[in-house]
Amino acid sequence: MMPGPLPTLFVSHGAPTLPLEPEVPAHRFLTGLGKRFPGIDAVLCISAHWNTPRPGVNAVMKPATVHDFYGFPGELYGITYPASGSPDLARRVAGLVEAAGLPCDTDTGRGIDHGAWVPLMLMYPGAEIPVVQLSIQGHLDPARHFALGEAIAPLRREGVLVIGSGGSVHPLGDPTLALGDGIPTDRHAHAFNEWLTRAVTSGNTEDLIHYRELAPSAVHAQPYPDHFMPLLVALGAAGPGAKGTVIHHSWYWGNLGMDAYEFR
Ligand code: ZN
Repeated sequence: MMPGPLPTLFVSHGAPTLPLEPEVPAHRFLTGLGKRFPGIDAVLCISAHWNTPRPGVNAVMKPATVHDFYGFPGELYGITYPASGSPDLARRVAGLVEAAGLPCDTDTGRGIDHGAWVPLMLMYPGAEIPVVQLSIQGHLDPARHFALGEAIAPLRREGVLVIGSGGSVHPLGDPTLALGDGIPTDRHAHAFNEWLTRAVTSGNTEDLIHYRELAPSAVHAQPYPDHFMPLLVALGAAGPGAKGTVIHHSWYWGNLGMDAYEFR
């Protein structure tokens, strides 16, 4: 176990192809990120891609690699990330969430989705760190996800690195912000990302909780909440008064914001 509380992280996972693209800046960044936190015992990942009606944890000793995407190159479907799970940590997480007055289901079959394994296979290519996931609830508001993060804050003193995995700008499905190689980054995406950077680095929890009303172009930059909610969980888990540091900034496919933050 590490001395002192760990920070929490928010990372942007881009597309499932990221592990195959060593020339992409976000790939290079994630490759070096795991070394910054030596001696951790486990990762708890809050991925945009596990979205359930109630909070849930996966309590699985050998979680399968879930290929939860369609239409990508065939080699991606052969990737496995053989990290162990940790039913003990899953029980600890469920206990913390329930102690905060929130429900928490335990799933004994669910594997690791690409929101988790894309960054983790770059951070920890040896798959030596056990991984547990905690789900988001796409129908619930940011304040509930912040509270979910607050519930798991004690994990920072227990050798568990809490990682929210989503996207700082994630306009999937928004027709005004196109995605693809060679597409320039739109001013709407820049405007949202600049607002987000200011809110994160000043630790402005209230603004972040009310991002839909306050952030410019939120409707274009985050048309669905799933890739933003992991940020609120990571922020809540960092403890009262936490502020973020931008530890990575880049764009991918034009309008996918790939920023990463460390909260402490
Ligand atoms: Zn995603």
